Amino acid sequence: MVDLVRLSLGTAIEVELEEGTNDPNFSTAFIMTYSENKCSANCAFCPQAQDSNSSPHMLSRIGWPVYKLDDFIHHLRPGLNFRRACIQCLNYPTVVDDVEKILAAVKTKVKLPVSICIHPVSLEEMKRLKKAGAQKIGIAVDACTPELFEKIKGAGRRGPYQWGRHLEAMQQALEVFAPGNVTTHLIVGLGETEEEAADFIIKMYAMGITVGLFAFTPIRGTALEEMSQPALESYRRLQVLRYLVANKLIDSEGVSADERGKLELKSDAAWLRETLSSGEAFRVTGCSGCNRPYYNERPRGPMYNYPRPLSEDEVHKALAEAGFVSRDGRV
Ligand code: SF4
Ligand code: SF4
Repeated sequence: MVDLVRLSLGTAIEVELEEGTNDPNFSTAFIMTYSENKCSANCAFCPQAQDSNSSPHMLSRIGWPVYKLDDFIHHLRPGLNFRRACIQCLNYPTVVDDVEKILAAVKTKVKLPVSICIHPVSLEEMKRLKKAGAQKIGIAVDACTPELFEKIKGAGRRGPYQWGRHLEAMQQALEVFAPGNVTTHLIVGLGETEEEAADFIIKMYAMGITVGLFAFTPIRGTALEEMSQPALESYRRLQVLRYLVANKLIDSEGVSADERGKLELKSDAAWLRETLSSGEAFRVTGCSGCNRPYYNERPRGPMYNYPRPLSEDEVHKALAEAGFVSRDGRV
């Protein structure tokens, strides 16, 4: 069993293991399990993948230095900015043992709700995680169609994952953790159409699974380092769709797509403007309390996911970027 962990840099700064300016938007303590040999999986976008030449200190755009678990726990205390902790898991044989150890240690110091972001593990292992005190579980599908999944995470990468097993594991997770406590991640910009992403989002919410949206971010040393981030307007449309679906304000009947798969909504423009006026649709999504500033965003933008409330101007801008043509005109 390992006594090392990685912490996202923002987490390390918040607990004062590193010097730096605290970001008030950084409300999730991100802890990653440690493995000397990276992850045994090989997801095409991921710096932790077996074939990637990226620094093992990276996940998405974020740096993750290594610390002794004991040092982290020593620095962790109530009263910090955190509203949730998330343990991000690499795939290796003893990872569930390590998560149990980290969970037990975290719970000696703080009463935060904890999410476990993990690949499909057995039903028994899920029960162990729940028993150890995990509140939510995230099983990231990342790619929204079976074909794309095989190419990005499965056989096409000589990776261990199968679309059907991921869906089966999410069903099992619903049994163990209950609807509302199971999350998946969808990375927008891996080659899917908006319609395909929308179908996936609708299907997940119908199952009782929350969707955290991520914008694909190319990382040097990964198989997809040359690919671009998704078009912002496309991302905005999916944010709107996800928000409306999550709040039961629209279903598949209210959505259509043009011949290229670009989304169209059958709602009227005034209703959409009013419904989206809080800006909530454009903020970070996933487990409640999860916030990850600059996970996909360069500090200069574009701001795919806002880690804070939007100003009125930002809401107008985001709506204009979505460029939706609804039943009675542009939103
Ligand atoms: S399972 Fe997670 S950590 Fe491992 S390669 Fe895939 S995305 Fe990266
Ligand atoms: S949505 Fe956030 S807290 Fe939930 S599993 Fe994903 S990264 Fe972790």
